Amino acid sequence: MVEVSGARQWDRMMELAKLGAIPGDGVNRACLTELDRAARRLVISWAERAGAVASVDAAGNLFLRRAGAQRDAAPVLTGSHLDSQPQGGRFDGAYGVVAGIEVLAALHDAGVVTARPVEVVAWTNEEGGRFQPGCTGSMAWAGVAPVDAWDEVRDLEGVRYGDALAALLASEADLPRRPLGSRPHAYIEAHIEQGPLLEAEGLDVGVVTGIQGSRWFRVTVTGASAHAGTAPVSMRRDALQDAIRAISALNVAMADPDDVLRFTVGKMVVSPNSSNSVAGQVVFTIDLRHPDRDMLVARGDAVGAVIQQALLHCTAEIVETFHALPSGFDADVMATIERAAIGAGVTHRRMASGAFHDAQFAARVAPAGMIFVPSKDGISHHPAEYSAPEQLARGTAVLARALVELAG
Ligand SMILES: [Zn+2]
Repeated sequence: MVEVSGARQWDRMMELAKLGAIPGDGVNRACLTELDRAARRLVISWAERAGAVASVDAAGNLFLRRAGAQRDAAPVLTGSHLDSQPQGGRFDGAYGVVAGIEVLAALHDAGVVTARPVEVVAWTNEEGGRFQPGCTGSMAWAGVAPVDAWDEVRDLEGVRYGDALAALLASEADLPRRPLGSRPHAYIEAHIEQGPLLEAEGLDVGVVTGIQGSRWFRVTVTGASAHAGTAPVSMRRDALQDAIRAISALNVAMADPDDVLRFTVGKMVVSPNSSNSVAGQVVFTIDLRHPDRDMLVARGDAVGAVIQQALLHCTAEIVETFHALPSGFDADVMATIERAAIGAGVTHRRMASGAFHDAQFAARVAPAGMIFVPSKDGISHHPAEYSAPEQLARGTAVLARALVELAG
């Protein structure tokens, strides 16, 4: 049987975490930066040591392929992402890529030739920390949107996504280019849970049943800036006051007695943002999530009208920036992961994912599933994010068995 090395995997996790390390054991490694490129080169070097070959598609997704006995058979795909949140941790995303590489290395060490090729992917821009939305790499790969759909999106410095992606591809011109999109035999993503359930229940891995849907909106409320001392209140078109009215109305409209709907306004940019000026413009974001498709569609479709009706003096433009319907994972893949958990002697449970992942889009193209490992105190998107070496090793042992079964 194929034996993964928990020690090698942990050493690699820690080596990767040096790229973009921030105080408190965190990582700030935005997509399409020099640090991101360095992380990709590091991962490629590990994969090549395991006999795998790197290639890149037009969306910047990096694939590391270990050949199978059947050269042209659809590969079994695993992986995750190498980018992090601005104040992120060492494990979110990176674990799934390193775990996949560890499986390749274990296959290599054992001299195992699978029937199907096994591929590890590092998806471009999963986090959406630098360029919104996230999951642009997996969305382009899955055909959800064209690869140039986000070209005009800019980061805080004004850099266009299209330019940043072109620069990455130019820097990796030495790597073979592969066509965008493919039809893998199956996709399994290993990831930290980012929630407290596994730790609380003392379990080793989660067999993920599906991912709740997300809809993101950007709302621009436009009024007119004026002097706080001279402009009579009755004559103002105060964008901040109208934004508050809109958010209050949304709080009422998005109330859920079952407390399942997640409604968040997490970002607000006020212009001119001066204490003695009436706000002329406010841009705020909405993040809406629900596991039920009909509920998510209905509530999301109501957002525009609720805002427009709440405004007294200003106008609002509402743009939906991310739209991912809930996805349920493949029953056979889930059963395969459960068999792998039993075979590896680790405890497990089925669970849903509250966060979105690239697997949500991979599931549109191939039978897909995910393996969760425990997150200490459920903390994620934070430097304190932590999973112990042995917890990661158990997740990878399950991943290895599942991939080997699927790859034959
Ligand atoms: Zn992630």
